[in-house]
Amino acid sequence: MQTLFEEALKRKNIRFQKNVKTADLCTFRIGGACRYLIEPQCIGELVESILLCEHTRVPYEVIGRGSNLLFADAFIPIALIRTTALNGLVVQNGELIAACGISLPRLAQKAAALGFFDLAFACGIPGTLGGGVYMNAGAHGSDLASLVKWVDVLHPQTGEIRTLFNKELSFSYRNSIFQQENIVALRACLALRCPSELDKIQAQMHALLNRRQATQPVSLPSAGSVFKRINNGASMGKIIDELGLKGMRCGNAAVSQKHAGFIVNLGGAKAADVCTLIDCIKGIVKRKKGIDATTEIRFLGFEKSQPGT
Ligand SMILES: Cc1cc2nc3c(=O)[nH]c(=O)nc-3n(C[C@H](O)[C@H](O)[C@H](O)COP(=O)(O)OP(=O)(O)OC[C@H]3O[C@@H](n4cnc5c(N)ncnc54)[C@H](O)[C@@H]3O)c2cc1C
Repeated sequence: MQTLFEEALKRKNIRFQKNVKTADLCTFRIGGACRYLIEPQCIGELVESILLCEHTRVPYEVIGRGSNLLFADAFIPIALIRTTALNGLVVQNGELIAACGISLPRLAQKAAALGFFDLAFACGIPGTLGGGVYMNAGAHGSDLASLVKWVDVLHPQTGEIRTLFNKELSFSYRNSIFQQENIVALRACLALRCPSELDKIQAQMHALLNRRQATQPVSLPSAGSVFKRINNGASMGKIIDELGLKGMRCGNAAVSQKHAGFIVNLGGAKAADVCTLIDCIKGIVKRKKGIDATTEIRFLGFEKSQPGT
C-alpha cells in the first residue's frame, strides 16, 4: 500500500519526503520523525493529498507552522501534510481571502498596508491562518472569530468542499468546529472593518511586538502558552508564577523564567520531559488551587492518554 501511495504522489507531482524529523516541523524543536512529509503547493494539491491518504488508508494530519504542537519522541507512522507553501491572498471589497497556509503576521502586515487595524493583534502570533482558525487564535482582547466571515472546508471522508459561515464555525475561546469535526480549512475570508492610518497601525504592531519581546521567551523554542485560561478568565501563567513554579525543570524542558505559561526547550528537550512537566504543574495547581488546568497545545503521535486530557 505504501508503494502505491508513493507512486500516486509522484504521478501527481506532489512534493513529499520520507522519514522527516518532526523537531524541524515545529517551534518547540522537539519530536522524533514522521513517515511522510507532504508539502502541497496549491489548494488543489492539498485536497488531492488528503483524499489520497483517505483512499489508501494512510493515516495523516494537516499541520501549519507547528507553533501549537508537541510531537512525540517516537517515530510517528503517519503522513504530515504541511500547508505553509499555500500563501495565496486576494483582496476584495475590504475583505481578505487567503489560503490556509499564509502566516498570521503576513496577513496582519497586509491588512495594515490596506489601512485596516483589525489584524494588528495577530502580528506576533507565529502560526498560519488554518492553524489560527482551528485554534481561534487571539491576543490582546481580539481573536480570529471576530474577523472570519467564512471558511471553505474539505470533508475528507466524502471529498465534499463546503463554505461554512462564521455562525457555523462554533468559535469560542481557543476553540472552533475544527476541533470537534474531521474537516480541513482550505481558505478563509476575513472581513476588515476598522480603517486607520498606516503609521498608527504600524506603531501599534511595533508596541505589541516589543511587549512580546519583553514578556515572552521569544528567543527559546516553545509552543506559546501551554495552558488555556481558566474559564476564559484567570491566566494560568499568573497562577503558575504565584505558585513559584518558574524555572521548574524536567530534563531540558523548563517553565520559562520570563513567562510562567510557557514551557521552553533549553536544548535537546524530549516530549516526555514536557509531558512530565505538564503533569506536575497540573497536579500542583489542582492540589493548591483546586483548579483543573487544560492544555492549549495539541499533541501529535502519543499513544496513551495525553497530559491535556
Ligand atoms: C512564541 C509563540 C507565541 C504564541 N502566541 C500566541 C498568541 O498570542 N495567541 C494564540 O492564540 N496563539 C499563540 N501561539 C500559538 C500558535 O501560534 C497558534 O495557536 C497558531 O494559531 C497555530 O497555528 P499553526 O499554523 O502553527 O498550527 P499548528 O501548530 O501547525 O497546528 C495546530 C492545530 O491546527 C490544526 N490545523 C492546522 N492547519 C489546519 C487546517 N488548514 N485545517 C484544519 N486544521 C488545521 C493542526 O492539525 C493542529 O491540530 C503562540 C506560539 C508561539 C510559539
